[in-house]
Amino acid sequence: MDKKMLLWVAVLSLALFPRTEHADAAFWFQSKRATVDLRLLETSDLHGYMLNYDYAARTEAETYGLALTASLIAAERKTAKNTMLFDDGDLLEGNEMAAYVARRPLKKGEIHPFIRVMNHLNYDAATVGNHDFHYGLDFLKQTINGAKFPFVNANIYYNFEKNDTDDQNFFKPYVILDKKVEDRSGHHHHLKIGVIGFVTPSVIEWEKPSLGGKVKAKDILHTAAWFVPRMKAEGADLIIALAHCGVDPAAKQPFYTGDAVYLLSEVKGIDAILFGHQHRVFPSEFFAGVPGVDIRKGTINGVPAVMPGKWGSHLGVISLTLEKKGEKWEMTQAQSEAKPVYAIHNQQAKSIVRPDPDIVRMTAELQKNVLGSKFTLYSRN
Ligand SMILES: [Zn+2]
Repeated sequence: MDKKMLLWVAVLSLALFPRTEHADAAFWFQSKRATVDLRLLETSDLHGYMLNYDYAARTEAETYGLALTASLIAAERKTAKNTMLFDDGDLLEGNEMAAYVARRPLKKGEIHPFIRVMNHLNYDAATVGNHDFHYGLDFLKQTINGAKFPFVNANIYYNFEKNDTDDQNFFKPYVILDKKVEDRSGHHHHLKIGVIGFVTPSVIEWEKPSLGGKVKAKDILHTAAWFVPRMKAEGADLIIALAHCGVDPAAKQPFYTGDAVYLLSEVKGIDAILFGHQHRVFPSEFFAGVPGVDIRKGTINGVPAVMPGKWGSHLGVISLTLEKKGEKWEMTQAQSEAKPVYAIHNQQAKSIVRPDPDIVRMTAELQKNVLGSKFTLYSRN
């Protein structure tokens, strides 16, 4: 082969098999097919229990407290490539520490100490529960303004003087979060995670003295049916409902507005439900035999769901497997579990994790003040 011929072969092979084509093909393959494992973590109904502390008995508690739950969160984050953390509301009212903070009250620009803890734990999003309205709308607004993560709720409205059409959402109804995930082969992808929140409409009645008719609630089912298609249209790959309402299969009637999780599971487009409010554990034997509920997989009408007890007694965990097919992500596997912070031996409950030292440190002064204050929520006799 003379020099000229050699040159031609080189030019021809470059033209036929450019290096970039191999790279493009590999990239095409990566971007078209991928398997991602994503773990959704949930706290709910913390009711002021940042610490594993029993304010009535004035002793450490073994079975609850976010300081303990946070250690479970850290363990999940260590063992899973991709996690997201959510809170389902009823955070701000319910124990002495919560009441102490609300009574001071917050100074202008001050961040609620619970929110400081949650910012530290890197929550991805949260919603409000009925009890979060207890200290009034101004307190609630200031509290959530201090959060580095969004609070979403779609069914509380204000500005409804004239008619139903001039209503405005009191909170951000939903967010679509950009979540960078790593697939099983180590490649990165961006998922659009839609998160929408709901609270039991009964809150308007229950919290009447603090709300004074300034806001109203709409039916959860209709609200979901309105917003979920919009979230899809905005490109949400996955839609997570944070529902501060329970499961009541007897609620299968069109105008029921309370424990709507069962109905929510039938709304097309909702992929996972993180719920609370009932202070129960889902999945668990308590819900065995409820039509459509699989307590082994932790699904309601096939939709993965979880409820983590109360006061941080459990961490809700939904493990999802998502597969990329063309441009779409499809959920191919789901398993829910509520993991307790304690275990029972010889009928004695003992915590199985140590309290998160950061939370203990961040709340130390507040805890001292709470215990030193004359104000108590519980009678001592
Ligand atoms: Zn609650």
